[in-house]
Amino acid sequence: MEFVFLSLSPEFFQGFMNEGIIKKALVEKKISARVIDFRDFSVDKHNCVDDTPYGGGCGMLIKPDALVRAFESIELKPARKLILTSPAGKRFNQRYAESLAECEQLIFICGRYEGIDERVSELLQPEIISVGDYVLSNGELAALVIFNAVSRLIPGVLGNSGSLNEESFNDEKLEYPQYTRPEIYRNLCVPEVLKSGNHKLINDWRKNRSIEKTSQRLNMG
Ligand code: SAH
Repeated sequence: MEFVFLSLSPEFFQGFMNEGIIKKALVEKKISARVIDFRDFSVDKHNCVDDTPYGGGCGMLIKPDALVRAFESIELKPARKLILTSPAGKRFNQRYAESLAECEQLIFICGRYEGIDERVSELLQPEIISVGDYVLSNGELAALVIFNAVSRLIPGVLGNSGSLNEESFNDEKLEYPQYTRPEIYRNLCVPEVLKSGNHKLINDWRKNRSIEKTSQRLNMG
């Protein structure tokens, strides 16, 4: 899977790509990722990529030209998706991550300022994705959330693929509570059943806790 980020802040991605499972997946070539600074595609003599909105209003908008040219510089793969991050998009979740993990190439348009000139969407017809009902100050953060959630679904990226089956949102349920050493911490004990060695009892306990946790969360709204 290839990830391409069209961004005005390539440095935003550095720490993230040099850390944990993403770094390992990149080194082992399970995924590849690159950032294109679309300011480089500006033909404006000051490399300006933003301007004020027609009709008035505060803030600046990303102009279409440099962004569209940057997109056109990418070698497109057949099974690709172009994603525009926006609070107005379709809400991202685990099912959505699973469907994106089927692609060969994901290209992200990361917005800034007040957003992006609408003609970018009219022309390129991206899939518009929101990572939640709140406003972030840039699309890089949203793109990284999607990048991380999708990457860990790609075969070989997580060391133990069993951990994917046990995770939250599998069968629409949340994961059961887990414990590690020490057995007693500040008077709080690990549930006896988990130390019983009886796999049937352990599985039943986990299933019940998982159902309980899921319904508690649904009641939180
Ligand atoms: N004025 C816009 C918000 C712009 S925020 C509005 O009211 O809708 C600047 C950029 O951050 C956006 O272009 C988008 O790329 C990104 N962004 C902000 N919140 C986001 C969210 N919830 N999901 C995905 N991207 C988001």
